[in-house]
Amino acid sequence: MHLKKSAILYLLISVIFFTGCETKTETADLILANGKLLLMDKDFSTVDALAISGDRIVRVGSNSEILKLRGPQTQFVDLGGRTASPGMIESHIHFAQLGRRIRQLFLNDTRSREEAIELVRQKVSTLEEGEWVTGAGWHTATWDGSDYPDGKLLNQVTPDNPVYLTGMSWHAAWVNKIVMDMAGIDKNTPDPVGGIIVRDPETGEPTGVFLETAQKLVETALPKESDEQLESIIQGANDAAAAFGITTIHDAQANDKEIAAYRNLIENERLKIRIYTMYHVDEFGDDFDSLMDKPIEVGSYDNRLTLRTLKIFSDGALGARGAALHKPYSDDPTSAGLLRDNPTTINNVINKAFNAGYQVAYHAIGDRANHLVLDAYQKALESKDASNIRPRIEHAQILSLDDLPRFGSLGVIASMQPLHFSLDQQFAEARLGKERMGGAYAWRSLINSDARVIFNSDAPFSPVQHSDPLIGIYAADTRRSLDGSLFNEEKDQRLTRREAIESFTIHPAYAAFEENIKGSLKIGMLADIAVWSNDISKIPAEKLLSTEAVMTIIGGEIVYDKENLIHISSD
Ligand SMILES: [Zn+2]
Repeated sequence: MHLKKSAILYLLISVIFFTGCETKTETADLILANGKLLLMDKDFSTVDALAISGDRIVRVGSNSEILKLRGPQTQFVDLGGRTASPGMIESHIHFAQLGRRIRQLFLNDTRSREEAIELVRQKVSTLEEGEWVTGAGWHTATWDGSDYPDGKLLNQVTPDNPVYLTGMSWHAAWVNKIVMDMAGIDKNTPDPVGGIIVRDPETGEPTGVFLETAQKLVETALPKESDEQLESIIQGANDAAAAFGITTIHDAQANDKEIAAYRNLIENERLKIRIYTMYHVDEFGDDFDSLMDKPIEVGSYDNRLTLRTLKIFSDGALGARGAALHKPYSDDPTSAGLLRDNPTTINNVINKAFNAGYQVAYHAIGDRANHLVLDAYQKALESKDASNIRPRIEHAQILSLDDLPRFGSLGVIASMQPLHFSLDQQFAEARLGKERMGGAYAWRSLINSDARVIFNSDAPFSPVQHSDPLIGIYAADTRRSLDGSLFNEEKDQRLTRREAIESFTIHPAYAAFEENIKGSLKIGMLADIAVWSNDISKIPAEKLLSTEAVMTIIGGEIVYDKENLIHISSD
C-alpha cells in the first residue's frame, strides 16, 4: 500500500516535471532566503524568501516554500536576516554627467583655494605632461576669502597640464593659461552676452576665471570625448548606481550620442542598469519636429532601454534666481526670474508631444513656470485620459497654494528632489520670503491632495554620494540637513518611511508606465532587487545615512555583491 502511494506520487511528479510544466518553474535559478523582503504591495507586507527563474520573480513566500525550489544548479543567497526591497528607481539623474563627475577631482569639500590647488598638484603628479586635469565643486562661499581664484596659481602648479575646474553651481570655470591659449583667449577677447571674463584690473589680462556664458569660450578647448571614452564613462556611472541599490535610472537629459552609447553597451552586455530616457531636444528647432515623426521605443533589449519621453525646460533654478515666479524675488525686487517658454510655446510643445504619443517631463521650478505648465497640461488633457499620458513636472519646487491640488486632480506626476530642500535652506527663504515657502518643496501637501510624487537626486549637480537613494529617503522623512540640523517649518511636510520608499519604487515605475514589471516584488515581475545592510523600513532616519546596499540584482543577475553573499547550491 505504502509502495503504491509512492509510485503514484512519483508518477504525478514525473508528469509535472517532464510534460506539463517547464522544468524552469521546478527549480529556481536563484533563491534569496532567510531575510525580510519588502514586497511594496498595498499592505506593505514582507516575506522570508523569493525565487527567480531567468529574469523574473517566480515565487515569493516562506523559507520552506521557496527552498523546495532549490536544485543542484540553483544559486543561493542566505540573507541572514537582512532586508531586501525592489531595486531603487532613480527617476531624474544625468547619467553620463555622473560618470564624468566620478572621474573628476572632487572639490566640494575644499575650504580654501590652497586646498583645491593641493589636490590639483597631487593629481598632476600622477599624469604625463599634457594630460588634462578636470575637477568640479569649488565655491568661493565655502572658502575663507570670497574673491575668485586666479589662474596664475594653477600655472605655478602646472604650466604643462591643462587644468579645468568647474564651480559648484556650474556658473564659473577656473582654468590655467595653457587652456586659455588653446581656446585663443587673450586681453582682446570681449565678454560674451550673458557672461564675464574676470580680468586683472591693471593689465586687463584674463585671470583664468570665466563666469556664466563666458565658460563656453574655454569649453571649446576641452578634449573631444571619443565614443569609447563616453562608453567607459557610462560604465562608471553604472557601477556607482549599482552600488547604491539602483536598478533603473530615468536619464533626465539624454542626447543622440549617449543613446547610441547605451545601445552599444547593452548589446555588448556592458551596461546592467535599465535606462528610461528623457530625450532632450530644443523645442524651437527642427529636431523637435523630426523626433515627433519617430515612433516611441519601449522596452528594447529585454526591458533595458525605453525612449518615450521628452525633457523640456520652462525656467531656470532658484539659487541663481532663474526660477520664474509670479511676483519678484524677496531678495531682488527687480527680478521675477526667467521664463524660457511663453504659454503659447508650452501649449504647442505639449500638444504635439501628446499627439505623437510621447510623455512630457517639463522642467518647472518657480510658481509661475509650474502654473503655466499645469495650465497647458490641463488644456491638452481635456480630450485625453491622463493615465495613458502620465505627464510629469520635473522639480515642482515652488507652487502657489492654488496650484498644489491640481497635480492630483489632473494626474500630473511631481518629480522632486528631497535633498534639495535641505541643500537650498541657505538661500530658499531669502529668495522667496516666508509666505511662498508654504508651497515650496511641499511633498506632504502634494500627497495629501492625491498627487503621485516620485523622488530622485538630480545628480551629479550635487556630489556623487547624493545619488544614494537612502539619502533621499532620509531627507524626505526628516526634512533635516545631512548633519542633522532641523529647519524651521510651520507646516510639517515629512513623509512616512513607507511613502518615501514608494517614491523610489512603485511610483517611479508608474511614472515610466512600468508598474507591471517593476517597483514591487510580485510573481512575474522583473527580478530587480536591492539587499540592504539595515532594515530600511524600520531603522531611525539617522541610521539610513550609514546604511548601504550590499547586493544588487538586475533581471536575476547579481551585478553587485559587496559581502560575497552568493553561494552555488551543493545539494
Ligand atoms: Zn536635472
